[in-house]
Amino acid sequence: MLVFRFVVFGVVAAAAIWISVAYGVGRAVDNVIFRESVDKASQWGQFMASRIPDIEDLAESGMPTEKQRATIEDIRNIGDVFRFKLFTADGRLSLISDDVSTGRYMGTADVMDLEPMQVAATGAPIVDVFDGTNKPNRPDLYAEAYIPLFDGNGQVVAIVEVYVDQTATAAYFRESFQTFGLMLMLFCGLIFAVPCSAYYLQRTLTERSRKDAEFLSRFDPLTGLLNRREFSMQAKRHIENNDLSVACYLDLDHFKAINDTHGHSIGDAFLANVADVLRENCRKEDLIARFGGDEFVIGFQNLSIEDATHRVRSIVQMCKKQIDIEDASITGSVSVGLAEINAEDGLDVILKNADTALYHAKTSGRNNFAVYGTEMGEELKQRYALESRIRHATENSEFEIYFQPLVSSKDQQIIGHEALLRLLDDNDNFIPPSVFIPVAEDLGLIEEIGRWTIQTSIQKVAEAESDKMLAINLSPIQFKSGELVNTVCTVLKDTGFPAHQLELEITESLLLEDSMSVEMQIDCLRDMGVRIAMDDFGTGFSSLSYLWKYGFDRLKIDRSFVAALDGNSERSREIIESVVMLGARLNMKITAEGVETAEQSKFLSDLGCDTLQGFFYGKPSPFRDEFLETAVQIPKQGKTG
Ligand code: C2E
Ligand code: CA
Ligand code: CA
Repeated sequence: MLVFRFVVFGVVAAAAIWISVAYGVGRAVDNVIFRESVDKASQWGQFMASRIPDIEDLAESGMPTEKQRATIEDIRNIGDVFRFKLFTADGRLSLISDDVSTGRYMGTADVMDLEPMQVAATGAPIVDVFDGTNKPNRPDLYAEAYIPLFDGNGQVVAIVEVYVDQTATAAYFRESFQTFGLMLMLFCGLIFAVPCSAYYLQRTLTERSRKDAEFLSRFDPLTGLLNRREFSMQAKRHIENNDLSVACYLDLDHFKAINDTHGHSIGDAFLANVADVLRENCRKEDLIARFGGDEFVIGFQNLSIEDATHRVRSIVQMCKKQIDIEDASITGSVSVGLAEINAEDGLDVILKNADTALYHAKTSGRNNFAVYGTEMGEELKQRYALESRIRHATENSEFEIYFQPLVSSKDQQIIGHEALLRLLDDNDNFIPPSVFIPVAEDLGLIEEIGRWTIQTSIQKVAEAESDKMLAINLSPIQFKSGELVNTVCTVLKDTGFPAHQLELEITESLLLEDSMSVEMQIDCLRDMGVRIAMDDFGTGFSSLSYLWKYGFDRLKIDRSFVAALDGNSERSREIIESVVMLGARLNMKITAEGVETAEQSKFLSDLGCDTLQGFFYGKPSPFRDEFLETAVQIPKQGKTG
């Protein structure tokens, strides 16, 4: 719009300048031609008078002598003069140059012409300029100038009307003036253009920053999705109109790890990719927003919860696909909570419900979605209480470590202990580690808790100067920061506990990551002399390739196989047998977990498991020095504490 106004103004201004210049040039040329004509005609008249001394006689008679005729022939076409008429001093026409060539002289006329009379009276020339384009024998532009001729006393002796061809002169001056006019126009244009451009530039910049500010106030700059404020405004309007039917809260799983591992620019690209997935799975009337960080919200309009769930399922699947950003291949995942909207609920309640459902999806394994139900409120409360308990226990070292004996199947002697974490709830009941450890992992506290466990358990056993082994469980997350090797090394050095007495238990989920870094850390630990055990063998993928690749020191057969023996499960027996054989082949020791009865103990010993662990030999219990030394009293039957 602004540009259009500038252009119109520029065109009008240019036209006005051009008209003024054209008019000015016309006037200037007329003036110059007038002056030029007077000068040329006067000079020519003087010249004629000098060449024809008896001009007065000639004017009176109108009959040139031969000599005068020859002179006239000579001078009549000098310069731009192409014709002349000679008048007597009182203004009567006596001779026309055309007649000199034909020789048909008319003689002096009797009547007096007005212009020569006037010239004779005033002594001043009279000039008229004519357009000769349509006249025969006339140039395109010419002047007729009446010039008085004087004698030595200053008396007018004759008048000569000189015809001067001014076509070339006018063209020359017109061209010059036009060039000048054009330059002037350009100059004016420039003077006009500079402030206009500056004004335009400033307006454009102001306009752009206004638009930027408006964009930022409504949209998320990274993804181009609505921001929280804009979403809230639009969502409230739609809730009032009963248009909004389902709200979804989305959160990327372990996005911090992507950022930490690959850097923020790749993290940003990943977020932008997620935004694209959301756009792809929503319709244009749906509201999609980024609430900040890795949180997104969708408001579906007039869509059933079933259809919304269908779209969300597709979002979860698409986000799980591996994407290549720069040199990195990234596989992320997203968890989603959906909540159906009741018009009487305000936006805050709706979002809270969707968030509760998201929490549910996160706690039940991530990379999935959950639809809000009223029962979730209670679960959420319990979860918050647990989180707060874990945080408090971490800050105040309120965890405990219990030790469970590992027994040699050969002589029933304790060969070591497994350290197991314990946490009491507010009512002094134990919270199972299978419950609090995943939550601690979610809270990002497991590394700190794990470090404490390594330090505390090694320290206790080292202080007892026991020569028995100590097994410690590791969460896969403890491998993420790359600090694990350093922690273990420092604690061993500080406590003097021999590395070969330490066994670290890992699970297959760690190896699924298949990252170089995990492999290197395991190698480093083994190089130090620390042994590595594969825990819960048989419950995960139990891929043989891992066993070949890592060459573990021990396999721990999950207690579910041992428990299954009670039902005389042939299958379970076969599996245990095969694992024992595999262990023998790959030079790995085999521990059977969950041994609860004498029968199980005997059976597993007979099958070839070299180490046994379970309530039959002892429940996990707090640390006691003598505990490390005592040989196990094998109970007659059943479980013991
Ligand atoms: P796990 O590594 O398989 O530990 C053995 C679990 O089996 C222990 O449960 C132990 O009490 C239980 N158990 C031992 N013998 C018997 C038995 O005869 N019968 C039955 N029913 N259970 C038996 P707990 O202490 O509840 O630990 C559960 C899991 O929590 C552990 O399984 C381990 O995966 C994890 N965990 C425990 N402490 C730590 C820790 O310090 N760090 C990490 N990352 N995980 C830990
Ligand atoms: Ca274990
Ligand atoms: Ca286990």
